[in-house]
Amino acid sequence: MQDVTSAASVSAGRDREPGPAPIPAAAPGDLLRQLRRRHATDPVTHVERVPSRAGTPAPWPGWAPEELRTAYARRGVSAPWRHQAEAAELAHDRRHVVVATGTASGKSLAYQLPALATLLAEARATVLYLAPTKALAADQLRAVAELEIEGVRPACYDGDTPRAEREWIRRHSRFVLTNPDMLHHGILPGHAQWSGFLRRLRYVVIDECHVYRGVFGSHVSHVLRRLRRQCARYGNTAGPTFVLASATSGDPAATAGRLVGLPVTAVTEDTSPRAGVTFALWEPPLLHAEASASSPTTAAPAPRRAPDAPRPTAPPGPDAEPGDLTQVRRSALRETADLLADSVAAGVRTLAFVRSRRGAEVVATSARRSLDEAVPGLGDRVAAYRGGYLREERRALERALLHGDLLGLASTNALELGVDLVGLDAVLICGYPGTRASLWQQAGRAGRSGQEALAVLVARDDPLDTYLVHHPEALFGTPVEATVLDPANPYVLGPQLACAAAEAPLTAADLELFGDSAKETVEALVEAGALRQRPTGWYWRHRERPKVDLRGEGGAPVCVVEAATGRLLGTVDGGSSHFLLHPGAVYLHQGVSYVVDSLDLEDGCALVHPEEPDWSTHARDVTSLSVVSVRSYVDAGPVGLFLGEVDVTSQVVSYQRRRIATGEVIDTRPLDLPTRELRTVAVWFTLSPESLAEAGVDPADVPGALHAAEHAAIGLLPLLATCDRWDIGGLSTAVHPDTEAPTVFVYDGHPGGAGFAERAYGTAAAWLKATRDAIDECGCEAGCPSCVQSPKCGNGNNPLSKPGAVRVLDVVLNNLPH
Ligand SMILES: [Zn+2]
Ligand SMILES: [Zn+2]
Repeated sequence: MQDVTSAASVSAGRDREPGPAPIPAAAPGDLLRQLRRRHATDPVTHVERVPSRAGTPAPWPGWAPEELRTAYARRGVSAPWRHQAEAAELAHDRRHVVVATGTASGKSLAYQLPALATLLAEARATVLYLAPTKALAADQLRAVAELEIEGVRPACYDGDTPRAEREWIRRHSRFVLTNPDMLHHGILPGHAQWSGFLRRLRYVVIDECHVYRGVFGSHVSHVLRRLRRQCARYGNTAGPTFVLASATSGDPAATAGRLVGLPVTAVTEDTSPRAGVTFALWEPPLLHAEASASSPTTAAPAPRRAPDAPRPTAPPGPDAEPGDLTQVRRSALRETADLLADSVAAGVRTLAFVRSRRGAEVVATSARRSLDEAVPGLGDRVAAYRGGYLREERRALERALLHGDLLGLASTNALELGVDLVGLDAVLICGYPGTRASLWQQAGRAGRSGQEALAVLVARDDPLDTYLVHHPEALFGTPVEATVLDPANPYVLGPQLACAAAEAPLTAADLELFGDSAKETVEALVEAGALRQRPTGWYWRHRERPKVDLRGEGGAPVCVVEAATGRLLGTVDGGSSHFLLHPGAVYLHQGVSYVVDSLDLEDGCALVHPEEPDWSTHARDVTSLSVVSVRSYVDAGPVGLFLGEVDVTSQVVSYQRRRIATGEVIDTRPLDLPTRELRTVAVWFTLSPESLAEAGVDPADVPGALHAAEHAAIGLLPLLATCDRWDIGGLSTAVHPDTEAPTVFVYDGHPGGAGFAERAYGTAAAWLKATRDAIDECGCEAGCPSCVQSPKCGNGNNPLSKPGAVRVLDVVLNNLPH
């Protein structure tokens, strides 16, 4: 460990009696200077000064009633910001609008203003508000109720609403707050009871709409179409106006338009005030082979899969031993721990965001240890914070930080979920959190009023992180990541059309609402015996409603049961169960760690016992893929780019155990699980063998070059589409039977596709350019986890050719039209 002992912290430690002594705090700029000195080579790749911004207010729109203005004035809002007024104006003109601005930019006012003004002007009009979580809906209910507008009677209507209150809400509330699941399971099937509400529905507010992505987003898009259909059936001919709130993203108007199925105007300029922040991008240095062999700091732990993530996949081939890394970066966890210790020693109140709970504990423990080495007792000023703490414990930590008894906190994103901390001066972000919205949300935790804060993004050894620290424009310029969903997914469309038919027979005119493939899908449902065609339309044939889970993946879920008590801990969708619940898997439930004893696929049940080992488990599978159909393609001479349906066959064959603190591979253990089939959507490119030879790729290197390009391409896709590396799979081969050429496939890991491959196809040039740059710009020699190695590779990262991958991608980019 390095010099955590600034003169100030030494003296502070010595006279700690009786309580914690004040440590003079360094200014953010000085702190950054201090931190940068810790390595021989400067780990900072970029410093962005995001200046503070004064807000730009706008006058209240002329139609905003006095009563509403007064109500806001009572809440301390004297005028809207310009973007709020602009969005409100559009919505009031009955134009569908999405507000895509930063966190805490006041998106609520943008929809409250037109919605409440309309409720005041039209005595019977109604508003439906949708939030992805009950907590957010409850929050918004409070905000609307506090305005105390006469006659609105806002109310939450969700699974927790007592039966006795439901009828009253349906009849009398004019501002109903709910979630898409309740709309799908409760309100739409019971539409007759809601007929009055739907007939008079003027606004549908969709908050946090960027959450509706992938398969879930595709389902929600059809739930909204079903809602529009029922409104029209009850005589609401104009239809409601949609007002959406989104995190900043690429092309929010198109995404919102796809979600609601109508043209949407975007308001993207954030005119709210904000505090200044100095943002540093930090790349941990490379370690040399000798050092990594003995040092425990070889690699960061690979991200643990969330229980709802679909199966990751990897190409077929020999099952080589992985983990044989010649050159790696210092682990982002170790780096973050050191930075946390340094910041605390400098007296700066600092919060470190770490992805996993165990990771947060490693950071806190390691920072505590190095502080104690420097000044005994100083380590007490650092703690770990995670979900799963009791409420009192959380409050005690918050208080300690507020009062300065505690200076450093390492946390998972539990803090993102509504816990309030004030008075932080610096935020360390260990690894890119996946989206710009989360990054800014985490960075936004720092900054006391009027004071400039410091934020440091510490890159993990991952191709996306590597790209971002070398391409700050991707973080600070125009957003490129878009929220994707695919309403045409037949695995979503079919069940949704069945729901619609169960609500009321489908007519030919209805089908238009559900997109081009609706006709075909309805016919398939007739053939399957789900619908019956009559002259008046298509009828649902069964007594019970179709069972459709918006968040489900298809296949029966597997129950996770604590063996000793029989307690049901949760469920995992069938598709992910092989990866997450195989015997020996470490399974996390609400922050508590369990180890799987057995998995019974027939009964759909996994038995587990509580245990907190210091390793994580990583399942690996082998995959084969065949092309079913081509949807679209680009013929670019020696290069071809394709989008189409594929069948993927995969089998989870083994799992690795890795030390959490270091990522070190302990061993690989075999598994005996059946194969599974997945029909999904893929993007793929082919190259002629001649073009590869011309580019200097030796035939023997072709498999490694394609394999390396595939890994990095998967790693970089989240730059352009809000998906996780674990949402997508890939396969590369020097000759594929269906393409008869060297080919790289990247596919959606969800039945029917989720829009990720489609987005990759649509932005192929930008996607593959970023992939090429990430590989080329990594300072390693022969490939490392920061560029071409993948933590989920079924082939143990073998073969891989880093220089070959750059050449492959150059050939593609030189031929592909931009
Ligand atoms: Zn590398
Ligand atoms: Zn691989």
